Amino acid sequence: MFGWLGKLLRVNLTDRRISEENIPPEVLRQFMGGKGLGTYYLYREVPRLADPLGPKNRFYLVTGPAQGTRIPIAGRCTAVSKSPLTGLYIDSGAGGYLGPELKRAGFDMLVIEGKSEQPVWLDISSDDTLIRDAKHLWGKTTHETELALRKEDKKRGVLAIGPAGERLVRFACLTHNYFRTFGRGGLGAVLGGKGLKAIAVRGHLESISTPDPDQEKALSKLLINRSRAAREKGHNLHLHGTPWLVWRSNNNGMFPTRNFQTTHFEHHLKLSPDYLEGVFAQNRRRQPCERCPISCSWVITKTFPWAPQEVTGAVAVPEYETLGLLGGNLGIADTEAVIQANHLCNILGLDTISTGNVIGLLMELAQRGELPENYQKESVRFSNSQGVIQLISKIALREGLGDALAEGTMRFASRIGPQAAALAIHVKGLEFPAWDPRGKLGLGLSYATAAAGASHLRGWPITGEPPKISASSVLPSLVEQQDLKILKDSLIICHFTHSINPVLENKDCANIYNIVTGESSTEESVRRIAARTWLLARLFNIREYDEAPRYYDKLPTRFMEEPVPSGPAKGLTAFVSRQDFEECLTELFQLRGCDKNGYPTETAIKDLGLEKLYLEFGS
Ligand code: SF4
Repeated sequence: MFGWLGKLLRVNLTDRRISEENIPPEVLRQFMGGKGLGTYYLYREVPRLADPLGPKNRFYLVTGPAQGTRIPIAGRCTAVSKSPLTGLYIDSGAGGYLGPELKRAGFDMLVIEGKSEQPVWLDISSDDTLIRDAKHLWGKTTHETELALRKEDKKRGVLAIGPAGERLVRFACLTHNYFRTFGRGGLGAVLGGKGLKAIAVRGHLESISTPDPDQEKALSKLLINRSRAAREKGHNLHLHGTPWLVWRSNNNGMFPTRNFQTTHFEHHLKLSPDYLEGVFAQNRRRQPCERCPISCSWVITKTFPWAPQEVTGAVAVPEYETLGLLGGNLGIADTEAVIQANHLCNILGLDTISTGNVIGLLMELAQRGELPENYQKESVRFSNSQGVIQLISKIALREGLGDALAEGTMRFASRIGPQAAALAIHVKGLEFPAWDPRGKLGLGLSYATAAAGASHLRGWPITGEPPKISASSVLPSLVEQQDLKILKDSLIICHFTHSINPVLENKDCANIYNIVTGESSTEESVRRIAARTWLLARLFNIREYDEAPRYYDKLPTRFMEEPVPSGPAKGLTAFVSRQDFEECLTELFQLRGCDKNGYPTETAIKDLGLEKLYLEFGS
């Protein structure tokens, strides 16, 4: 077998059973790896109505066929589970080197099930797997935990939860390599619910075999050259990292501002690369994932008074999503405060996107005078950066008002009432990324139909148009891009390969897949793998639904009914009309093999080879 190892490691924390299992080759061919493979096992193994925080939920840490080979831009890993935030499907990815390390330890995938009564950590190496006592780590930050575990072996790949995950904050994240997070959907709380503080992986395999090393070498060279070409042409991602998107998003009227009340932040330049690079010119360095020629991430190597316990010698430059949600969305133009807020979220183990949304909702309610009395004393107003920093710690520790916010935007809003629910910015319970759909034609459909909820990584239609016309014309491109995202998350290749020159498309994914595995796929056949995965994630959710699936594929009221009041997207809603949204949704369902209510059709289930699985585990 090439590319894959055909093996998974299963750890049951209830009875401490550790076993290795073969992954059937036909399953690998049907689902490729990463997101696809994790979705397959999640659908089979996590029963309907399982408590996401309980022992019946499972956590899948999955690699793809590209991990551990010499292919660049593949230092990533995917995690799949049932989300404590949405009660539905979630997958989330992170860079660093954990994925390749798991592969070097001899596994395509790690499955965690059950629940330990005492805090434990998992020590995985090529020779052995041990469940070890973590009492001394419980209560520590993610950075302290990683440092402690890497003291024994600094090359270990460590995945850790922080105090937020321990307290089951519904949007707690997982941190790896200090600055990389599996951010979305509360995966940190899934591990917290299992009493698992950390996973450490150390592999000793040299590299994963591919059928033709010369071809593998040639492909690696090609990808590196395409990446160099983009940097030489001055691609902003290569030069500045994701903060450059502040310019793009603000110019296109998509930058979240004050709980998405508008989409153009008057102080956005304070959050832009010019400013960040000017202030920290002498104190920054790149922090790439394994074998990545793009190297988009940066850290600041300066000691700040608010990071006295800093253990890594650096703090992260916030990524674009964080600048949007903890910056513009909270009306904050104080750059250092956003860096501090980001750092706090990282070490306490909170998703910055959800954190920025739930605090944004609180601030808007305070602005409107609609906050219940019991929350008023601890509330904060837009632009109050120090108040936000205090609130982040309270959320992670579930103290006072922080306890209510730790439940996430959807639940916090429903505690308050319909006036709050109308201002809550989420899909299916997952808070919005920093891209307002009122600035881009058809983007709202990507958010509305994603199994995970509102994520920016589920496919964008290729268009420069704002939503001034029907979104119908961009639907084929949306489907193509949805497939591309799934393939990248299944292979696994970084999404930022859209920034190399020329960009990486579905046909390139087929080519990479063939070179690492020896398969002879076509663009069409790999897109069938993507379509299969898309439909299976939807089927997982349908088992959990009380209503027809269409009911859940919707956008927040604000994006449908409130035209943007200022900036480049002034006057726009996410669709020209509600009717256009509904018609496009039906059309998208057809393109994805669903009926008008959003149920996958029997024909599509059969055609994609999901019939047996559906009959056995369907509903
Ligand atoms: S582009 Fe950035 S996130 Fe992607 S693999 Fe490279 S360093 Fe990691």
